Amino acid sequence: MSTTATDLVGDLRAALGDDLLVTDPDLVGGYVRDQSRLTEHGTPLAVVAPRSTDDVAAALRWAHAHAVPVVTRGAGSGLVGGANAVDGGLVLTLHRMDRIVEVDVAGARAVVQPGVITGDLRAAVAAHGLFYPPDPGSVAFCSIGGNVATNAGGMCCVKYGVTGDYVLALEAVLPDGRVVHTGRLPVKGVAGYDLTSLLVGSEGTLAVVTEVTLRLLPAPTTPGTLVASFTGLTAAGAFVAEVAAAGITPSMLELMDSTTVTAVNAMAGMGLDEGVVLVLAQCDGPGATADLAVLEKAAERHGAVDVAVSSDAEEAAMLLEARRIALTALERVAADTGRQWLLDDVAVPRERMVELVAAIERIAADHDLTIGVFGHAGDGNLHPTLLYTDETVALAAFDAITAAALAMGGTVTGEHGVGRLKRVWLGRELDPVADELHTGVKRVFDPTGILNPGVVR
Ligand SMILES: Cc1cc2nc3c(=O)[nH]c(=O)nc-3n(C[C@H](O)[C@H](O)[C@H](O)COP(=O)(O)OP(=O)(O)OC[C@H]3O[C@@H](n4cnc5c(N)ncnc54)[C@H](O)[C@@H]3O)c2cc1C
Repeated sequence: MSTTATDLVGDLRAALGDDLLVTDPDLVGGYVRDQSRLTEHGTPLAVVAPRSTDDVAAALRWAHAHAVPVVTRGAGSGLVGGANAVDGGLVLTLHRMDRIVEVDVAGARAVVQPGVITGDLRAAVAAHGLFYPPDPGSVAFCSIGGNVATNAGGMCCVKYGVTGDYVLALEAVLPDGRVVHTGRLPVKGVAGYDLTSLLVGSEGTLAVVTEVTLRLLPAPTTPGTLVASFTGLTAAGAFVAEVAAAGITPSMLELMDSTTVTAVNAMAGMGLDEGVVLVLAQCDGPGATADLAVLEKAAERHGAVDVAVSSDAEEAAMLLEARRIALTALERVAADTGRQWLLDDVAVPRERMVELVAAIERIAADHDLTIGVFGHAGDGNLHPTLLYTDETVALAAFDAITAAALAMGGTVTGEHGVGRLKRVWLGRELDPVADELHTGVKRVFDPTGILNPGVVR
């Protein structure tokens, strides 16, 4: 560490106290990057692990005064490099702020600190007969703060929406240490600009979220599950498009191609049918049985080779688990075969799913690459996962997929965010005026640009 860096750390220690700082290089190493691939990270000056909003404010005041960049970190499960450290900066890890402050059963709300693990919150509110819907595949290890900052989606978005649909109010700390409260408790409220929505999905570039008030729902009925297998992605995509057009809203509509299914079986011995594309659907609520019957017919019409409907909760849990481990299973295939992996995250209007899957298959053939395709088909949101040995080829295919989704009226990221990985692509998606407004918003919140430099903008 240079003298200047040593002086700075000494100064930081004096300002925050020893307890909040991690400077041992071995420990710091665990905080330098998220789970993305092909994104850069630097060597931070120190890791700061606050216990309270006051601690966050003190750290930011110090960083602001010394013009030191700050990367906020939740659980580090991000897939776009949004929590990657920058050289000479601070990593502000919020894992110690992990308290469920309140579950207000009568008001159907929860107040939580950002470091709460999403699955823990879901379990805690379920004990009161309540439901916090957002369920990213990483639900067991990602944090609410990270979910808010990325506006995380998940498997039930097709019916229940994304994280932002459940955020009523936020407490956040601005880069100069000022604390701001946004939003309100009623489910309705339109006073002023919607600063809450602006902070949701801002990927740690505008403020550090220190408390979140979430809207909860009554627990839904146990869903029924349908599994349909198709010989190819095109038929599966056509089925998904028809579900969207049929006016049925399943509570889950997920897809795994045959590469992914084989990987999941190899990793977890789940005994799923191989050589086929699987579509998993769930329906809950009063019309669930009738809806599943309509889906069953639609799957058969689209040439499903097998369709099974079940109300068995254990079987449903197994299928959901199979879908949740899709990325990990493909990672393992890559590792076992001496390849690397790169995950994309694109979304198109649901009626264009068939075009998207056809484009992915064409791009895989053109680049002679294995691409495992899985994702939240009901949202038009897929995660083509490239298994590769040649980085240049992989990046060309990745760009081709992202460009194809954009050309179909889609978006360059359905749920993982822009981070460092999709920065160039955000510029291609925004029109020039929207781009200018992005720059202006960033300047208002973070005039000296210390929050998460290199992410989004
Ligand atoms: C196996 C696997 C499956 C996944 N499945 C899904 C999925 O289905 N849907 C989905 O949307 N994502 C998914 N993800 C991606 C990831 O889990 C989400 O992006 C998640 O929201 C990140 O949360 P985190 O706590 O790990 O945040 P981090 O990775 O630590 O940070 C993510 C971003 O949020 C910022 N941030 C974190 N906390 C705060 C805060 N308190 N204030 C301000 N900024 C903050 C960071 O600076 C960074 O830009 C998956 C990841 C994995 C590894």
